[in-house]
Amino acid sequence: YNQDLTLDLVVIGGGPGGYVAAIKAGQLGLDVACVEGRGALGGTCLNVGCIPSKALLASSHLLHEIQKNAASHGVIVDGAHIDIPKMMAQKDKAVTGLTKGVEGLFKKNKVEYVKGWGKLNSTNEVEVALLDGGSTTLRAKNIIIATGSEVAPLPGIEIDEERVVSSTGALVLEEVPKKLIVIGGGYIGLEMGSVWERLGSTVTVVEFGPMIVPTMDGEVRKQFERSLKKQGFSFKLNTKVTGAAREGDVVKLIVEPAKGGEPETLEADVVLVSAGRRPFYEGLGLESAGIELDKRGRIKVDEKFKTTAAGNVYAIGDVIDGPMLAHKAEEDGVACVENIAGKAGHVNYNTVPSIVYTHPEVASVGKTEEQVKNEGMDYRVGKFAFVANSRARSVDDTEGLVKFISDKKTDKILGAHIMGPNAGELIHECVLAMEYGASTEDIGRSCHGHPTLSEAIKEAAMATYDKAIHS
Ligand code: FAD
Repeated sequence: YNQDLTLDLVVIGGGPGGYVAAIKAGQLGLDVACVEGRGALGGTCLNVGCIPSKALLASSHLLHEIQKNAASHGVIVDGAHIDIPKMMAQKDKAVTGLTKGVEGLFKKNKVEYVKGWGKLNSTNEVEVALLDGGSTTLRAKNIIIATGSEVAPLPGIEIDEERVVSSTGALVLEEVPKKLIVIGGGYIGLEMGSVWERLGSTVTVVEFGPMIVPTMDGEVRKQFERSLKKQGFSFKLNTKVTGAAREGDVVKLIVEPAKGGEPETLEADVVLVSAGRRPFYEGLGLESAGIELDKRGRIKVDEKFKTTAAGNVYAIGDVIDGPMLAHKAEEDGVACVENIAGKAGHVNYNTVPSIVYTHPEVASVGKTEEQVKNEGMDYRVGKFAFVANSRARSVDDTEGLVKFISDKKTDKILGAHIMGPNAGELIHECVLAMEYGASTEDIGRSCHGHPTLSEAIKEAAMATYDKAIHS
C-alpha cells in the first residue's frame, strides 16, 4: 500500500455497514479502502448472522413441512430426515458465495480491501496489523468506524461454543441436541431455537423479563407466543440465570425467579446464550482519538454520524445507537458517505422494519399499539386474519394477522404489524407507504392481485378506515 497516498476515506470493518459505505464511496468517485480483520467480507451478518441463520431456517422448515404438512396435501414422503453435514454445506455455500460476491463488488467499484485489524493512530491515520504479517498505515481525509457488535456475555456463564454456545456455535452444531435451553427471548434465540426444534430438539426459552421480544406489538406477541408453544417451545419468563456448570455432556443451568427466590437446576445438552449483543471496538484506540461513548457504551455520533473526535471520524451500524440490524447499518453507511461527499444523506429511523424469521414470520414497522397509547395519541386499529385470506387458505398456512395503527384524525399510518407466511416480504408495502406518508385508505384503495397474501394487507387497511370485505 502506498503510504504517501492520502485516501478520501478509510472504512474500518467490512460488515453490512462498512462494506456498503465503501461501495457507495467508490460509486461517488472517492478513493476508498476498507479494512477487515476476520478474513472475509460481510461482517457478522454474512458470516455468522443473518445469512447462515436463514439458510438453516430454510433447511429445517423444509424438513418440517415434509414431516408435518406434506401429507395433508397428499404428498407422501417416507423416511424424511436431516443430513446435518449436507445442511451445513448448503449454508456454507450460501455464505461463501455472498462474501466472495462482496469482494467482487469491491473490485468493480474500486474499493481497496485491506485484510487486517485497524486501529486509529490519529484522526486521519489508521494503522493496520495485516493478516499476512507486518503492518501498514493508511492516511485518510475521512474515517468511518463500522466495527459492529459481539455477543454480550452473561455473568456466571462461560461460553465454550460446544455445549454452552453463542449464536455462532448454534450455527455449527454437529448433532441435534435432545434438550436445548435458549437464554434470552429475543429474535436471535427464537430463530435458532426454531431451527433445532424443527430438527427434533425440545426447546426451553429462559427469559429474564416478563415477555419474549418486548419490542413487538402486544397483541401480535400473544399470538406469536401461542404459535411457538404449539410448535413445542416452552417459556420460562421472569427467570434469571445465575450460573452454568458442564458435567460431561450435560449442562446444568441454575436459574431463579427474576425477583429472587428458590433456585432451580435445569439440564440441557446444549445451552444457547443469546441475551443480547454489545458494540465492539476493542483495540481501536477510541479514547486517544477523543471518541466518546454514550451511557450504553455505544459510540456517540451527531445526526451526520460524526463522532466526538476533533476530525472527520464517523461511526455507523451496530456500534452506534439504533436497532442492531443489517439493513439499518446499510442505510447508515450510505447516508454517512453521502454526507462526506457533500450530499444530503439521511436515514428515517421511523421506517426501519424488523423481522423475525420464524414460522410464521413476524414483521413490523413503526409504532406498536402500546407506544401510541403511551404517547396519548388518538388512533384507530384495523386488523385482518390470514385465516380469511384466500391464498393463505389455498396453501394451508393461515396462522396470523395483519394489524394497522393509524392516526384517528388524518388516517396516516403510524405502525403496521404482520404475523404470517412471508411477513418479512409483505412488510415492505407498509414501509413504502409510511415512507410516502400514506394513509390506510391509500392502501385500501390500491388494487392488489388476487389471490395473494398481500390482499390481507389491503383488507387490514380497509378495516382501519372503513370495513374489510372478507371478515
Ligand atoms: P458487523 O456486521 O458486526 O461487522 C463489523 C465487522 O468489522 C466485522 O466483520 C469485524 O470483523 C470487523 N472489525 C471489527 N473491528 C475491526 C478492526 N479493528 N479492524 C478491522 N475489522 C474490524 N440483522 C438483520 O437485519 N437481519 C437478520 O436476519 C439478522 N440475523 C442475525 C442473526 C444472528 C445469529 C446474529 C448474530 C445477528 C443477526 N443480525 C441480523 C444482526 C446483523 O448481523 C447486524 O446488525 C449487522 O451485521 C451489523 O452490521 P455492522 O456492519 O454494523 O457490523
